[in-house]
Amino acid sequence: MARDIIDDRLIGSLHLRSLTHQGLEHDPVREHLAVQAGTIDALLAGHYAGDATIGDVLRMGDLGIGTVQRLAGELVILDGAAWLAAADGKVTSVSDDTLTPFAVACRFTPDIIREQDSALDYAGILATLESMAPAPDTVVGIRLAGRFRDLHLRSVREQAPPFLPLTQVVAHQTEWTAESAVGTLVGFRFPDGASGVEVPGYHLHFLSEDHTVGGHVLSAELTKGTFAMTVCDELHIELPAGLALGTPGATARATIAAVEG
Ligand SMILES: [Zn+2]
Repeated sequence: MARDIIDDRLIGSLHLRSLTHQGLEHDPVREHLAVQAGTIDALLAGHYAGDATIGDVLRMGDLGIGTVQRLAGELVILDGAAWLAAADGKVTSVSDDTLTPFAVACRFTPDIIREQDSALDYAGILATLESMAPAPDTVVGIRLAGRFRDLHLRSVREQAPPFLPLTQVVAHQTEWTAESAVGTLVGFRFPDGASGVEVPGYHLHFLSEDHTVGGHVLSAELTKGTFAMTVCDELHIELPAGLALGTPGATARATIAAVEG
């Protein structure tokens, strides 16, 4: 049902495992485990139909990001609930039976916390996260709750088959700004070596407290807030039937940055 693959070759201490859909259902839920449905390589190639459901993902984690079937928007999982920011910026709740071609989640435990009382620009936010994170080869889940300003967000339009590659879809992404919002930046930092599987580096989505503002974060300024981080020592990946796990690191970071940067 689940087989160990790549293991130490990929990310040192990070234990990587691929699962079938059934494996995802039966995998034990625990802390410090990141669970992913699909891979960034599959998404880049235009596999947008999805295989795992949001319900599956929510059983495995209460914090996460990704997208949903047909690339219908930017997914935010926070406090065990799934939200979607569509291309028009509208945020809606996601039903459990919605499929996802790409999502990563974890059971969030605030292993490392830092209060921030002064303003930070986006570079400052990323630098603070980097200074909090243990080692560059670990997967970390991120939760930054606070007051933000000048949020630059993006989302993508729902696609219909035949699906175009992600690079072409993102060329028509929508972008907008929110002057200020109280809410949470949610996301992950993946190591460089994970680039066939995930977005290397920081990948953050935003959801406002009142669920009216959300999206993939291009930049944002923090007025004040609380950084929290969970360190994942294991990554389980659910692969839809017919999809193989590519060679880790084979997808150039620049290719992924072009669509997820
Ligand atoms: Zn995103």
